[in-house]
Amino acid sequence: MAYQAKSCNKIVYKASLCLFSAFFAVILCPMRVFSQELLIRAYATYKLKTVNGNANQGEITFKGQKIKGEMSFSVSGKNVSATFNGEKLTSPSLSINAGGKGLYLYSKDAPKRLYRGPITFSVDSLGHLKIINRVQTEEYLPSVLTGEIGHLRQPEAFKAQAITARTYTLTLKNNHIKEGYNLCDSPHCQVYYGLDNIKPKAAEAVRNTKGMILTYNGKPAATFYHASCGGYTEDMTNVWNRNKSMPYLVSVRDGDNPRKPYCAIAPKLHWKTKIYFTGLTRIARNCGWITPQEEAAGIRIYKSGEMSGRAHELELYTRERRMRISATDFYHCVGRQETWKAVKSCNFKIIQGKGYVILDGKGSGHGVGMCQWGAEGMARHGFNYKQILYHYYPGTVLKND
Ligand SMILES: [Zn+2]
Ligand SMILES: [Zn+2]
Repeated sequence: MAYQAKSCNKIVYKASLCLFSAFFAVILCPMRVFSQELLIRAYATYKLKTVNGNANQGEITFKGQKIKGEMSFSVSGKNVSATFNGEKLTSPSLSINAGGKGLYLYSKDAPKRLYRGPITFSVDSLGHLKIINRVQTEEYLPSVLTGEIGHLRQPEAFKAQAITARTYTLTLKNNHIKEGYNLCDSPHCQVYYGLDNIKPKAAEAVRNTKGMILTYNGKPAATFYHASCGGYTEDMTNVWNRNKSMPYLVSVRDGDNPRKPYCAIAPKLHWKTKIYFTGLTRIARNCGWITPQEEAAGIRIYKSGEMSGRAHELELYTRERRMRISATDFYHCVGRQETWKAVKSCNFKIIQGKGYVILDGKGSGHGVGMCQWGAEGMARHGFNYKQILYHYYPGTVLKND
């Protein structure tokens, strides 16, 4: 499989994976939660066995006792072993408090990150370190914005993202509740890479929109968002195969000029990926679409969206049979198995070759809700954050906490 699309998209799979819990949370969540704390799992995707900390810059305490210098936390069976202040402690769960500037955590297998507030170390069911940081929602959001749209420029786009991320946090709060925390720090929920290197624009946008959320019928809206739509956003029912539509998660045209949508400014909006049938066979076998004995002999678009032009259903065939698969399943399965850069969205056409196909695509992400690059484009055209939000989520209402 040869990949020509190179730019990385961080948010491609979060929303669909979280969809069901998100919708339940929309119904169950109380409105006033912004002053509440969140429990975030740090380094959720790293499978760490050991993490080190440097306590020199912050005011770090364990049971009221001050910690100085280097410290480490390691998996020891079902317990955590911690070393600090020349002592070793072993327990199923250890909590420290990172006051002042906070605590830098680092490991040879993971990037260095700064955390503030209570941090609890334990071991998860797979034998990896489970690091949970308690953080205020309004302190969490600037980090989310930095991770999601730190590369954008326009303050109004940052404000729109601050409100969508705040509202989204509300809808996702029960995502990992059975595992003992609210959200993970990966794109599965929302990216949160600690408190270092926060973009001033991100912090400012969160401050300037403090407590504001987007609602529909008086309830927090499910404010899905994605990197770039490529021309039209997508109706949620086409992506997640649900009968019941959310009236504000419908396909909208991203600007008056179909040839130049608001997100036309996104780098590498257009992408192409060549897939040889050998690669397609591997993917199709691993995804369970064909048996290990069968070989993929081609793929074509079976059904696509009238408005958005996105692929909805694909037809995969072997020499003996044909089968239909949802384009979203294809997009997720290729992403999980190969790389999320290979098929960046379902907004593609298929060009047939001899022994291969070329996916000729636009945009990045699931296409539902706000187009992040489109928000940047709208802001460059002079639209403010309210106009941006009402464009991508028609019928919603902004509310102050
Ligand atoms: Zn998650
Ligand atoms: Zn767009």
